[in-house]
Amino acid sequence: MPEKQIILIIVLAVVIVILAGGFVALFVYYHHVRRRDSDVDALTGGKTKNRFFMDCEKAVKKIPAEKWALAVIDIDKFKLVNDRLGYEMGDRILLRLHSTIGDSLEENEIVARISEDNFAVLIKNASDNDIENRLESIFTEFDRRNSLFIKYPMTFSAGVCRLGQCTGKNGAIDFTAAVDRCKLAKKSVKSYHTNEVAFYDGRIRDISMREKDIENAMPQALEHNEFLCYLQPKYGTENRHIVGAEALIRWDSKEFGFLSPNEFIPVAEKNGFVVELDFFILEEVCKLMRRWIDRGITPIIISVNQSRLHINDEDYIWRLREIVDKYEIPYGYIELEVTESVFTENTELMLKILHKLHEIGFKLSIDDFGSGYSSLNILKDIPADVLKIDREFFNGTVNSSRGRAVISSVVDLAKNLDMNVISEGIETGDQMEFLKEIRCGMVQGYYFAKPMTIKEFEEHWENDQQNESNDIFNDTFQFEPPLEAGN
Ligand code: C2E
Ligand code: MG
Ligand code: MG
Repeated sequence: MPEKQIILIIVLAVVIVILAGGFVALFVYYHHVRRRDSDVDALTGGKTKNRFFMDCEKAVKKIPAEKWALAVIDIDKFKLVNDRLGYEMGDRILLRLHSTIGDSLEENEIVARISEDNFAVLIKNASDNDIENRLESIFTEFDRRNSLFIKYPMTFSAGVCRLGQCTGKNGAIDFTAAVDRCKLAKKSVKSYHTNEVAFYDGRIRDISMREKDIENAMPQALEHNEFLCYLQPKYGTENRHIVGAEALIRWDSKEFGFLSPNEFIPVAEKNGFVVELDFFILEEVCKLMRRWIDRGITPIIISVNQSRLHINDEDYIWRLREIVDKYEIPYGYIELEVTESVFTENTELMLKILHKLHEIGFKLSIDDFGSGYSSLNILKDIPADVLKIDREFFNGTVNSSRGRAVISSVVDLAKNLDMNVISEGIETGDQMEFLKEIRCGMVQGYYFAKPMTIKEFEEHWENDQQNESNDIFNDTFQFEPPLEAGN
């Protein structure tokens, strides 16, 4: 072979080797960087949830699961922190909490931010007391560090479970189930006022199993007519007569007994079934109104509660109209109650839907006003006809002059925005008198009547109307000069 050709082959071979090496290096580099990206939480620079689970698996291989516990910590009302202090400050707080937890860890223990303000910590198993003390000292240390920068007191909720009790079918630890258990425990104590640590135990397991049973039984219960529509009358403060009603769902279950919505609505909200329940109640109300109209009775406005989940349902408005149209009920007789808290997420979409509903002719009310927090600013954008002041407002408030001032200002504010005001949960004559004094137009509460069956409501309403005409007669009698006066 000529010398030139040999040199050419050698040069080509070298080039090929260099290129191949380059490709391998590039592949390794990108693979590494990409993997690092999916391992590193962009905000804290710590582990992602996936990485955390992988590292936990390794830790459990080294030291048996019985020696470990998992804690999930979250900041109470973190959304409020973000809204009040801004997202940048919110991020810094998360970073600070991550490093505070990190600094407190012992050998082989692991921390990661697993979602917004939720931190998971793999810690050594110990007695309830010892674990609680460790978490408490993290909260205290965070508070110390945080107060160097901002004066904004925060509280935490934490749920803890023992990994030894979280073995999956194959004998391996199910970390996702462990996190869920921590969250269940955490949810059982979330109080917003104090630091709380809860342990996953038999009681919490029973609650979650009952929830699961309730969830599974709901669709059949709806088919078997176990859900009922109750009505609670609303009264005018001036004339003390019925001016409307709120439809409230009840479940007369063969399996669980008589259930209040507080037990099953939150469950139905989790799996979305609440949407069907809301349409069911609306239909019951429409049927009732149709019966009234056919008998020549002019209906009163009845309000129905609407879950925030409808917002994600593209057919929501269409389905609402379909039901109301089926019974040929004028839209204005139906008031849709949406709770104040729906305006904290998806505000724009929610407002769009509400404007559309209002244009069509439905009445709208803001339920539970004052129970959570909502920006007062948003009130001007909501096309609501009625503001419902939450019953929490009246817990002792009416007894203090400052409390009275707050309620009175809310009533004035609503009126200035052209809304009617109703106060919920009115239980005493004092509350009633005060509300009349400050010209809150309507009340609803045990002071007048509890929620009742439709039949009971109809009797109640009929009696009320009879009394009303007596009142009118009495009023007329009082104001007309007596005939025998002879003028
Ligand atoms: P809400 O819409 O704020 O309804 C008012 C709740 O206050 C009702 O509880 C009512 O019974 C109760 N209440 C009325 N007056 C008084 C009083 O003087 N004192 C006290 N302590 N309580 C009073 P209920 O019927 O247990 O309903 C609880 C919640 O469940 C409702 O709160 C509403 O958010 C939800 N809910 C009820 N029915 C439905 C429904 O059909 N759909 C949806 N999405 N939610 C519903
Ligand atoms: Mg309501
Ligand atoms: Mg309410």
